[in-house]
Amino acid sequence: MEPSSANTGFIQQQPIIKNQFHEDVSLQRIAKLYLPPSLLEKVTPEISRLGDAVLSQQIFDWITDAERNTPYLRGSGRDAFGRPKQELIVTEGWRKLQEFGFANGVVAINYDSSSPSNGPYSRLIQFLRCHLWEASCANTMCPAAMQDGAARLLQRHLTTPQLAANLSETEKSVFQNAYDHLTSRDPAYTWTSGQWMTERTGGSDVSQTETVATYSPFPAGHPVPLASKEENMPLGPWSISGFKWFSSATDSQMTILLAKTRPGMGVSAFFAPMRRWNPELVSPTFTGTGATGGGGTELNGVTISRLKTKFGTVSLPTAELELKDMRGWLIGQEGEGIKEISTILNITRVHTTVSSMGYLGRGIGVAKAYALVREAGVGKGRRLPLYKHPLHMRTLADLTAEYHGLMLLTFYTLYILGLDEHLSSSSSPPVVPPPIHPLTPPTPKVSPLLRTLSSLHKSFICHSTIPLSFSCMESLGGLGYLLNSDSEHLNLSRLFRDACVGAIWEGTTDVLASDTLRALKHPSAGVKALEWLVETGLAASIKKVWEGLKKKFLDKGKKQQEEEKLVSEARGLTHRLAEVVIAVLWVVDARVRPGREVEGMKRRWMAKHGFGPSGGGDGEEEDVKVEGDGLELDLAIVYGEGGPKGVVEGGSVPGVSKL
Ligand SMILES: Cc1cc2nc3c(=O)[nH]c(=O)nc-3n(C[C@H](O)[C@H](O)[C@H](O)COP(=O)(O)OP(=O)(O)OC[C@H]3O[C@@H](n4cnc5c(N)ncnc54)[C@H](O)[C@@H]3O)c2cc1C
Repeated sequence: MEPSSANTGFIQQQPIIKNQFHEDVSLQRIAKLYLPPSLLEKVTPEISRLGDAVLSQQIFDWITDAERNTPYLRGSGRDAFGRPKQELIVTEGWRKLQEFGFANGVVAINYDSSSPSNGPYSRLIQFLRCHLWEASCANTMCPAAMQDGAARLLQRHLTTPQLAANLSETEKSVFQNAYDHLTSRDPAYTWTSGQWMTERTGGSDVSQTETVATYSPFPAGHPVPLASKEENMPLGPWSISGFKWFSSATDSQMTILLAKTRPGMGVSAFFAPMRRWNPELVSPTFTGTGATGGGGTELNGVTISRLKTKFGTVSLPTAELELKDMRGWLIGQEGEGIKEISTILNITRVHTTVSSMGYLGRGIGVAKAYALVREAGVGKGRRLPLYKHPLHMRTLADLTAEYHGLMLLTFYTLYILGLDEHLSSSSSPPVVPPPIHPLTPPTPKVSPLLRTLSSLHKSFICHSTIPLSFSCMESLGGLGYLLNSDSEHLNLSRLFRDACVGAIWEGTTDVLASDTLRALKHPSAGVKALEWLVETGLAASIKKVWEGLKKKFLDKGKKQQEEEKLVSEARGLTHRLAEVVIAVLWVVDARVRPGREVEGMKRRWMAKHGFGPSGGGDGEEEDVKVEGDGLELDLAIVYGEGGPKGVVEGGSVPGVSKL
């Protein structure tokens, strides 16, 4: 008998993670459910290419760099002569990942004037791509999400006639310039944006904001100081000072922030560039003529107080910022900052959800691949590959069913978001899409449905994905707990840590549950829009649960005491509501594209979530089993109809080399 050594004895074969666009059974169903076939065919080659690219070794090397060499502030905060000087350093890996995202249009694709034919499906197409990218982007999608939200906000002000009429010519050119940067694919030109809301008084309630903006235009008769000399963009007339407790996109080129302008008035929203032109700055490498030293840019009244140290999202430069005379531009009306920022939040919340789902999708992809190559004992010295272990596969099948339920809700919300943006767009004449399936609501229901789903889906999904992401780690055994920076594609612990923040930023689980209640009750359009959706499900047990919830939402809360009770139950009630919506979507999905595995998943999901086995009856008399229930069905659920492809007996797959 030969003893093992570090290089001899059993060495585990590498699992191969394949292109998730094709391998992720749920993602494929989602694309086919929500996109018209001709459009899906058109966008498939590009999405497929992205699916390959996000799994390249180069991308994983950049992730390792961004995670290991975390952002830092260079120097002491002053130059050799005592002048204030701050430089935030992010690594090459971070910058390269960001550039990859820009070039692949993860934000720009939604604003491309070259693809207006995507119309109401624009967001779906964008987020199919984002879903693939999230687990490989090392959090660069966080600033990109705010970039997307800021672009949408500026787009509204530039293209909605009533809003554009309020802008001066200078404001128009400043906003247009920022919008052009935010929606570019050119890495050298693209901007990301910060979104500064949270202060020490609390991120959930920004009414206590202590940042103050004062209208203080530059004196007439003098040249207005510039944000950018090359682009000749002036600094704004508002002077903003205060302290922002969380800023994640600290390396961004602009920000949208909240500040108070007068006592007793609500917060207002501002646009501000991160840097400004200072003609007096001396560049040490200046080679021109003249005594000024060439000038240069500096932070626009911003001091980075410190960078935060965090449990996850370690590659992201999250900072506390002190603002002193930061120059900015008011967006919309004074006191209406919450309304303005909600345009951004609608976008950043779906990005947060899609990142949670992207991490989970990748986690399941890795778990599936590992089950093909890892063997485990079944007693008496016998070993089987994990994909032949009935319990392991049941665990993965249940995980896949939970994932698909959450995917249905995520992408339905995106469908409604795209529809809402399309209908409200004034640049292209709105065309109501033909109802490709019963899930396209009548036009008046689109906005109230979006208002409700926006908080509901984020509250439920970002919370639910955390334990599910942990299950993916667990399915790799001890390997799942490791950082695996030498095999970065297997680093599920990084994805788990990053997934946890999804339930906190952009609104915590409870804050968004309370907001969902508000959306449902004031006015009751939210309830009516959901009622329309539930009717679509045509399923008795779902309706029964819905009727119970509706009674609570509408009848309760008329008295102060009941209102308080309702708020205390907000998480339970709204999460049950999310399950109702998912149940409806399951019914439609299984009806539109029937199949053994979707029926199997649906029945198990319905039974687990208390809707009766199929969701169609009262749950008592129906048989939970579908044909081939057991390992064969579990394999079909996890790997698609027919089970895993290309597996060679003995637990190996073609093309896998032994280490
Ligand atoms: C890594 C990271 C990056 C971030 N980046 C940014 C950023 O770029 N920009 C930005 O503006 N913010 C950012 N945030 C802040 C984030 O949005 C806030 O942390 C979040 O909104 C919660 O605010 P808070 O921390 O002040 O907690 P609090 O608001 O104090 O909440 C504390 C607890 O009270 C609960 N709670 C509060 N209000 C209610 C209520 N009405 N009903 C029931 N429960 C309630 C919350 O659910 C929570 O459990 C970031 C946070 C993190 C962790």
